[in-house]
Amino acid sequence: METSSKLPNIGTNIFTYIGKLANEYKAVNLSQGFPDFSPDPKLLQLAEDALKNGHNQYAPMQGTFTLRKTISEKIEELHGKSYHPEYEITITAGATQAIFTSISTFVQQDDEVIVLKPAYDCYEPVIELFGGKIVPIQLEGPDFKMNWDTFKSVIGPKTKMVVINTPHNPTGTIWSKSDMLQLQEILKSTNIILLSDEVYEHIVFDGEEHQSAARFPDLASRSIICSSFGKTFHVTGWKVGYCVAPKALMQEFQKVHQFNVFCINHPMQKALTEYLKTPKHYLGLNSFYQTKRDYFLKAIKDSKFKVIPSSGTYFQLLDYSEITDEKDIIFAEKLIRDHKLASIPVSVFNLDARDDRQLRFCFAKTEIVLDQAAQILNTIR
Ligand code: PMP
Ligand code: GLN
Repeated sequence: METSSKLPNIGTNIFTYIGKLANEYKAVNLSQGFPDFSPDPKLLQLAEDALKNGHNQYAPMQGTFTLRKTISEKIEELHGKSYHPEYEITITAGATQAIFTSISTFVQQDDEVIVLKPAYDCYEPVIELFGGKIVPIQLEGPDFKMNWDTFKSVIGPKTKMVVINTPHNPTGTIWSKSDMLQLQEILKSTNIILLSDEVYEHIVFDGEEHQSAARFPDLASRSIICSSFGKTFHVTGWKVGYCVAPKALMQEFQKVHQFNVFCINHPMQKALTEYLKTPKHYLGLNSFYQTKRDYFLKAIKDSKFKVIPSSGTYFQLLDYSEITDEKDIIFAEKLIRDHKLASIPVSVFNLDARDDRQLRFCFAKTEIVLDQAAQILNTIR
């Protein structure tokens, strides 16, 4: 049957493509972002208990109340902002669904949405699907800092939403308090919604703090903040996340959510509620991943790849321009085929596939795998 496409320019995404190639060549896989180690046995036990204790039917549409309440307490403790568990929190099928539902709820035909490039791949197709116009701003390495005059210049009467992501995938940069204050100041006199993707909120390095939009009152009043238990508890396959927003925004979000998924995996919500009650389960993540980052960097210190500093997330960008001038997709494919190492080419996240000869490596891996990857990287000259 023939049909027209609503997304004619979109193909299979990079993670699926590279993942398949990596499997085919049995490559050491530092491409897609997921841990190659098991979650805490305590969390698995809680999941097993929840399955056995009869939590196997629909959860409430917004998520279980106890999970929402626990999330509310956690945010208040960390960021000093109170979200009402009854009206201002929704449990979602990963952050991906929170993002999809947020954009589909608010973006209408010809609305403009500002997206900062490089950008994770799940924002733009949804904006397009709902008739919005993407207004991209390309940030440049090695620090990927925002030029606030450029930012101001693209805001106009049609701007409906701004999407930010800190800590940032793929660059590993984080936004400082001063970045957030600048953003707050610029958005202050507008009706622009901020979609704040904070899935790596607990993976911030070198003693820095995550600057959640929740910490800045005017930003919080216009923000939908998205989080993911997948990243925080090493369970990306559970696909459980959540978002928080002021009541008026959340009410609209839930109108769509209830017909999108209605509700999320019930037993996992039960397990996560219990597990979240011990703050060290998430507060320890910064140093856990900082150790991995440092381990990886030490192991590749004599390689010809240039390190672009990572301040958060479990991603490390490496610049290979001293090795070859080949396009990053070609070089990434070659690394898989000839050297059995998989990574993600950064151009896929950039505006007009801008190619700075950078690859993204995920270091959420065991030391054995990081050693294998480092050995390969060190031989490429
Ligand atoms: N945003 C960013 C920046 C991500 O890296 C990811 C995930 N991998 C997501 C959103 C989606 O998170 P989830 O797996 O919880 O849907
Ligand atoms: N967020 C993961 C990454 O950036 C990928 C998730 C996916 O495959 N969609 O690697």
